[in-house]
Amino acid sequence: MELITVGSWAPYPRNNEACCGYILQEGMTTILLDCGHAVFSNLGNYINCLQLDAVFISHFHPDHCADLHALRHFMRGAFISGQRSQPLKVFLPDDFEGDLTYWQQIKELDIVIVQDGWSFRLAELELKFYRMRHSILTYGVKIQSDQASFFYTADTRVEESLIEASRGVDLLLAETTFRSYEKDLAAAAGHMTTADAAYWAKQAGAKKLLATHFWPGFDLQELRNDLAGFYPGQFDLATAGIRVQI
Ligand SMILES: [Zn+2]
Ligand SMILES: [Zn+2]
Repeated sequence: MELITVGSWAPYPRNNEACCGYILQEGMTTILLDCGHAVFSNLGNYINCLQLDAVFISHFHPDHCADLHALRHFMRGAFISGQRSQPLKVFLPDDFEGDLTYWQQIKELDIVIVQDGWSFRLAELELKFYRMRHSILTYGVKIQSDQASFFYTADTRVEESLIEASRGVDLLLAETTFRSYEKDLAAAAGHMTTADAAYWAKQAGAKKLLATHFWPGFDLQELRNDLAGFYPGQFDLATAGIRVQI
């Protein structure tokens, strides 16, 4: 299993970069995890977008879903030109107050509504969805194959029951929206600090931590140093183009 970071900025990207988007590949299966601002225009740097098997949208904040619109039009063109005939599977939260009916009408997409604790088999991968603790309805996902396991927190506060869902994973992709001394801001917005992500990874016994969801104005070296002060294990920051073997 391999994870490639397309973008990790939130809630807007730095120049010529992208908000949240991660490619997860295992064998012949390719999943895009979130599709925020500018993810689509950067996706082609790493994969042939025609070969995407599925997209998971954690929640309807634009830094996680804005470019689903671009991807939907790309798929429309691919259907018209005959380059693709298989609808793109899109896992969406069961947020019926959001844009769900709009997405369900698009015939190039196969919309799958996820719920808390629900599992889905996609080729060699088992996906299990968990409701996170954010300002709007948000899902995280655990993805497992016979060889490897991975957990993506999306946007959330830290909470013990969620940590349990990620126990022993090979890679934890965790948001670190705020620095350790900004815990009041993090709590108010339903986000984590570097210290929270470190606590989560330690408690879960994750083999590796990949931190993500960075404010574009932050100094990433400062964030890295801050995280290192709380986390003794193996970790990295999810900057664009970084590949992690899981
Ligand atoms: Zn959010
Ligand atoms: Zn976000």
